[in-house]
Amino acid sequence: MTINRQWIFDHNPEAQITPDVFRWTETALPNLHPGDVLVRNRVLSLDPANRAWMRGRTYREQVLPGQVMHGFTVSEVVDSTVEGFAVGDIVETMGGWQDYAALPAAQLTKRDGTVALEHLIGVYSITGLTAYFGLFDVGQVRPGDTVLISAAAGAVGSIAGQLARIAGARVVGIAGGPEKCAWLTDTLRFDAAVDYKAEDVGEAIRAACPAGVDLYFDNVGGQILDHALRAMNQNGRIVCCGAVANYDIGGQPFVSPLLPGVLVSKRLRMEGFIVLDHLAKRATAEDRLRQWIASGALHATTDISDGLATAPEALIRLLQGGNRGKMAVRLP
Ligand code: NDP
Repeated sequence: MTINRQWIFDHNPEAQITPDVFRWTETALPNLHPGDVLVRNRVLSLDPANRAWMRGRTYREQVLPGQVMHGFTVSEVVDSTVEGFAVGDIVETMGGWQDYAALPAAQLTKRDGTVALEHLIGVYSITGLTAYFGLFDVGQVRPGDTVLISAAAGAVGSIAGQLARIAGARVVGIAGGPEKCAWLTDTLRFDAAVDYKAEDVGEAIRAACPAGVDLYFDNVGGQILDHALRAMNQNGRIVCCGAVANYDIGGQPFVSPLLPGVLVSKRLRMEGFIVLDHLAKRATAEDRLRQWIASGALHATTDISDGLATAPEALIRLLQGGNRGKMAVRLP
């Protein structure tokens, strides 16, 4: 009998997550009802939002104790009751932290099976599209802008920074540790990098952005947002992409005391967005990302952990900054 291995979400931790937040179980394959497609997950995306989903409702439903842990996947069709989905097709879906899932066809998006799976889960999926729409549609980046990006060595940040460079901006990344900062400037060709774990962040931002910041792409919120607000130029734009500093903590998150006054005095525009609202323009975005990858202007880096068993440790590593680029789990 084929076994479906699963990670069950057990409980919401009071502070930082630990491996015991998940329970391993093995069960029979799910039944297939008319309208369903059976998929085998090939790559599981690990996202800081996985931790936010445990805390309560966000832009999507909360993951509840006893459920298979939710997660985006690139998966392969292994059985189908639906015309248009055939065995061997590669699809994008919410397959969850498990080997197999039976899902309604409406929840599957067909993908090009000839493209490397790590690119299908990364640069050509939520990661790349978030960077693209956040920077171009929400941030409206312009040549000559000084663009500051937090969590810059992560999945979204590393792509957003390179896209800003391609758009003709001066790009400064904020990341934790000297290796990540050197990677940003030496490999990804950012103009400067700030190590927020070792430097006085306010001073380092001022030194790296002598003409001030026109566009801040915010992945973290918290104290770093406070420093960025102080460095913003008049009529600057802040793209609120995420707040990873607030996800894996107990107690109340830090909120900058500058808000909302500084938005008024500096005439700033601060705008949040969810990538899922922008998918009508996905084909154009993917085409442009593909061209930049092909020309060598854009590097898409993945940090792959092998085997479903490694998912909890890999998520913890991601939240603690142990990743470089897109973090994902490969299911052999
Ligand atoms: P990343 O690959 O960037 O991983 C998270 C990174 O955050 C870590 O590598 C770590 O890097 C950094 N980090 C963790 N804690 C802190 C902290 N307290 N202060 C500063 N940095 C911290 O993840 P993603 O690229 O997948 O996601 C980045 C952000 O984008 C998240 O906030 C996520 O929720 C958001 N997002 C938003 C979407 C949308 O539609 N709006 C869609 C997808 C993602 P370091 O070593 O530098 O600390």
